[in-house]
Amino acid sequence: MRTLGVLGGMSWTSTQTYYRLLNEGVAARLGGLHSAQLLLHSVDFAPVAQAQHDGDWDATLAVLSQAAQGLARAGAEGLLIATNTMHKVADEVERACGLPLLHIADATAEAVLADGLTRVGLLATAFTMEQDFYVGRLRDKGIDVVVPDAAQRAEVQRVIYDELCLDVVLDSSRETYRGAMASLVERGAEAVVLGCTEISLLVGPDDSAVALYDTTRIHADAGVEFILGS
Ligand code: GLU
Repeated sequence: MRTLGVLGGMSWTSTQTYYRLLNEGVAARLGGLHSAQLLLHSVDFAPVAQAQHDGDWDATLAVLSQAAQGLARAGAEGLLIATNTMHKVADEVERACGLPLLHIADATAEAVLADGLTRVGLLATAFTMEQDFYVGRLRDKGIDVVVPDAAQRAEVQRVIYDELCLDVVLDSSRETYRGAMASLVERGAEAVVLGCTEISLLVGPDDSAVALYDTTRIHADAGVEFILGS
């Protein structure tokens, strides 16, 4: 087994999902008491989230680079950043620590394209939906991306930071997300990418008329492949 370094805590509510999926994935492949060989650095999310909202991405980069360098020193052989949004600085973090990075958008694009789809809706943080680092990466691979309108984006963002990252899961917010996904489908989305690692805490396949691509699961699967060296 190879040791995977995980940068987590962004937020902890989705890092615990990653932890479960990575261990379940290794156990499913190797059986018995096998589990994932991991190093986890879980950050304090409050200052990271504050820096995101201030647009101070250099501050987030400093936190993640330092953590990733620590994981490398401790013996990690690869790096997984357990959040979509912080892939804003993924290339720089990868350079800073020298570990191969399992990019969440690349893994997601691969899954979408493998199913023959080329037009997806995206639900994510405002940073991920509105900036180019994620949408542009999908478009470069030939995937057309539809995002919700401004009012829906604001509500999707609010639910992530004010509820899901605090382990609050509300039926009223599930209805909001169902509506946002239905609008994306009306606008031609063949599937919806859950491009924030907490969203699968709120909605699942029963909430959508089209297939959902859960980036947490897709990314964790990529982590399992890395750990098992396959
Ligand atoms: N985990 C979320 C994501 O996948 C949002 C929290 C963060 O900003 O890192 O984008």
